[in-house]
Amino acid sequence: MTECEHLVTCAFFHDRLAKMPSMSLMLKQRYCEGEWADNTRCARRIVAVKVGLGDVPDDLYPAEVYRVKGITGVPPSTITGGGPDARSSEDDL
Ligand code: SF4
Repeated sequence: MTECEHLVTCAFFHDRLAKMPSMSLMLKQRYCEGEWADNTRCARRIVAVKVGLGDVPDDLYPAEVYRVKGITGVPPSTITGGGPDARSSEDDL
């Protein structure tokens, strides 16, 4: 079981993004909390490690690791604490 350290403040977890996907509950179980959750793969968490949660774009969804480099300027695999799977995001698209 994994619980993301950003649960209290994360806009995605609290359904505050402009267009919440219909499968948001499934995504929360996959990334945010629960027995099978793995927040090391979450694009929002990876970006937050680099720029701070307050500067994570409102339209960034957990599965969009391919956007991390464009937002932070560096590949996700180089962000310490970004998670071991941050560099392999294509399977999350
Ligand atoms: S969306 Fe990502 S950063 Fe937000 S609570 Fe879930 S795992 Fe953490």
